[in-house]
Amino acid sequence: MPTFEPQSYYQNYVDGQFVDGGADRIVVDNPGTGAPLAEQASANAADIDAAVAAARRCHESGVLSAMRPVERGRMVRAIGDYLLANIDDIAQLLTLEAGKPLWESVVEIEGAARYFEYYGNQAETLEGRSIPLGKDYYDFTTYEPRGVSAQIIPWNYPLEMTARGMAAALATGNTVVIKSPELDPLTHLYIARAAEAAGFPPGAVNILCGVGSEAGAALSAHPDIDQVVFTGSVPTGVAIATAAAQNVVPCVLELGGKSAAIVCADADLDNLIDSVRWGIYFNAGQVCSAMSRLIVHESIAGEVRERIVALAESLSVGPGIDRPEFGANMGAMISKGQRDRAAGMVARAREAGADIATGGVAPDEAGFFLAPTVIAGVTRDMEIARSEVFGPVLSMLTYKEESEAIAIANDSDYGLVGGVFTRDIDGAMRVAQRIRTGQVFVNEWYAGGVETPFGGYKKSGYGREKGREALMNYVQTKNIGIRIG
Ligand code: NAD
Repeated sequence: MPTFEPQSYYQNYVDGQFVDGGADRIVVDNPGTGAPLAEQASANAADIDAAVAAARRCHESGVLSAMRPVERGRMVRAIGDYLLANIDDIAQLLTLEAGKPLWESVVEIEGAARYFEYYGNQAETLEGRSIPLGKDYYDFTTYEPRGVSAQIIPWNYPLEMTARGMAAALATGNTVVIKSPELDPLTHLYIARAAEAAGFPPGAVNILCGVGSEAGAALSAHPDIDQVVFTGSVPTGVAIATAAAQNVVPCVLELGGKSAAIVCADADLDNLIDSVRWGIYFNAGQVCSAMSRLIVHESIAGEVRERIVALAESLSVGPGIDRPEFGANMGAMISKGQRDRAAGMVARAREAGADIATGGVAPDEAGFFLAPTVIAGVTRDMEIARSEVFGPVLSMLTYKEESEAIAIANDSDYGLVGGVFTRDIDGAMRVAQRIRTGQVFVNEWYAGGVETPFGGYKKSGYGREKGREALMNYVQTKNIGIRIG
């Protein structure tokens, strides 16, 4: 792989132009070293106004909405093709700004490209209904794009989260204004270039970085947007939903979780360990659907603990750029603030009486690292069992009866995903029916894909991303009734 040199400064992309921002530039750090990496233009409210106006003009021109869907779909797919054609450079930049191992950056870019492929393919499949009203009428429904889609993106998967909303919005004929995350916005340059290369006209895709309380707040409260898509924390989600309510525009909120896997006494433990590796240590646990709680039958708790501690201790932790190959390794967390927050939660769990089986400490390195952590002896009242860590920290709880395991799993403000590991399909289905989450994994954490709907119950948010369900976020149903003479 050729060595990649980042630019010293990255601009925003508005109305088909790369532009500076009206706010002070943001310094983006390299989480693997703790050192500054590059500067990023930062938008103020006036820049957001300009982007929304450009998106509105493009939408009103009809250039996307009037196009035959198959053509639009091909353009959406071409964005993904561009990302794959430039994957070496993008992966290195993503690793340098987000801290993840190079192979994980490749996985993320392939995942982003997959969204453009999937929703590009869906573009021509959205069809209305004909509704029988007797011999005197013809009645049918059509789907129209909402218009300007505002999308506010988190830092944990900057490219993939952008691809998820952007691909579905463009495929259904909307224009987009994207607020990229201030901690790792740099790879968005390639999304802008990809949209241009795919033939999207000025204003169809606008990408601006900026501080959440300024640029994010201005975008979500803008009176000329038609819907908001947000992934991030609960307090920010509440602020965004409140702003959207003032303008009476819908939102899709995906707000994280405290997701639990129930491990039954008959579970295949090799299979479980593989899921734990991906479930809590992929992306250093900075995943909204991370397997952050393990609810283990007491008869196997000792063996499970031993095996997971061995897994955690087998992972080599260090700068992502030195970890090109899939394997037993993990990168940095996104920032010192997020690392210290997670380490603080582990320390408080110890004070509350939990047993730190391994990890919990920051390795003696310059970057923002936290050792893969396993906490045993967790009880459901502890902060560590209730609050999202958003780091490589697994909490182990135990149970005796199936109903107790389900009660523990559901004892959460969140309800994003859940899982069960067992060889008993009847037991798995009983658990799946009773777990209050938007997705249930049986015998493989993250079973599913771009095709399967994703979203939460309770404070994990509302609306569904991914799959065909997500197309409905971006369209309005119009009913046309015809009286015939
Ligand atoms: P955040 O919710 O504050 O930020 C997410 C995005 O929202 C960023 O682009 C940010 O600029 C923007 N934003 C912030 N304040 C805003 C406002 N008032 N109006 C509009 N947009 C605003 O999350 P964070 O501070 O980056 O991380 C804090 C916690 O959030 C994490 O510890 C984690 O628990 C959670 N989180 C969850 C996810 C997820 O995938 N569900 C992703 C990132 C963070």
